[in-house]
Amino acid sequence: MKHKRGIDLSRQSRDGIVYLGPLLDSARTAFDDIPEWHAVGGHCPKCEREGWVQRFELARKWGNGTPLGLLAPKLRCLGCGNKQGNHWILGQLPR
Ligand SMILES: [Zn+2]
Repeated sequence: MKHKRGIDLSRQSRDGIVYLGPLLDSARTAFDDIPEWHAVGGHCPKCEREGWVQRFELARKWGNGTPLGLLAPKLRCLGCGNKQGNHWILGQLPR
């Protein structure tokens, strides 16, 4: 892994995630608070791209109880490389 400090907004190999909406109150929401059947991703305001992260990997790395708002500045859009203003989104995993 080259980019240890950033969180890339990649597309999960498994497609079919249904976009639910932005994560509201990310300052008070941790991985722990998000149901397991939800996908966690980011939205890039520059190129309007959505990407999904490996939430369980991130939870292991940064801690289950870490508010996602703290991690938002680490998000990086793989579409345009933008690192500013990306915000968290939630999705529904396919069954
Ligand atoms: Zn972008």
